[in-house]
Amino acid sequence: MSEQERNARHKARMERKKAVVDERVKQATDVRGVIQLITGNGKGKSSSAFGTVARAIGHGQKVGVTQFIKGKWQSGEEMLFGSHPAVTFRVMGTGFTWNTQDREQDKRAAEQAWEDAAAMLTNPELALVVLDELTYMFKYDYLPLETVLAALRARPAQQHVIMTGRGAKPELLEIADTVSDIQDVKHAFRGGIKAQAGFDW
Ligand code: ATP
Ligand code: MG
Repeated sequence: MSEQERNARHKARMERKKAVVDERVKQATDVRGVIQLITGNGKGKSSSAFGTVARAIGHGQKVGVTQFIKGKWQSGEEMLFGSHPAVTFRVMGTGFTWNTQDREQDKRAAEQAWEDAAAMLTNPELALVVLDELTYMFKYDYLPLETVLAALRARPAQQHVIMTGRGAKPELLEIADTVSDIQDVKHAFRGGIKAQAGFDW
């Protein structure tokens, strides 16, 4: 096939493709808040959520963040967005760690964090609400799933929500409009590479 023939074929194929895409674009007409769930065992859930936080702030929007698990170290996202005027940032109290092994204390910390998250989900000024590591709250029964689902359903119509965490309950997949399941194909940790500030937290 000559280059000329190849170019002509490519043009014809792209024309057909454009017609299909244009038709799909025409059919997606709803403008409303989207619920996104980012789950799976691969790395990239929270960092993806915070990428969208940056995107929203870039457009001059206000954002609410609740992190349901407090790690050992303060995260870069908390240091950056925690003091940003466009962001309301709440981290679950230090009561929750894998070390306390005190279920009652962890449950209380979860309930307190949820109070703030619930307030974010009623605030129409927030264009985006991130519920980071939310899935674990149901795994250990720290929060009633029904209460959270009801708050998601009742939120302002234009508000987007991103939930992250492994092992999401089927109800969370169901209520979400967009679900991304991040696969763990390879992880540096298993190659003996330590978690590092800025890249991992
Ligand atoms: P990130 O915040 O980097 O986007 P994540 O939110 O997808 O990661 P979490 O399960 O919340 O992943 O894990 C938080 C920490 O664990 C991060 O430091 C991350 O680098 C690390 N991590 C994520 N996935 C894996 C994995 N498959 N194996 C080992 N460590 C991981
Ligand atoms: Mg995470």
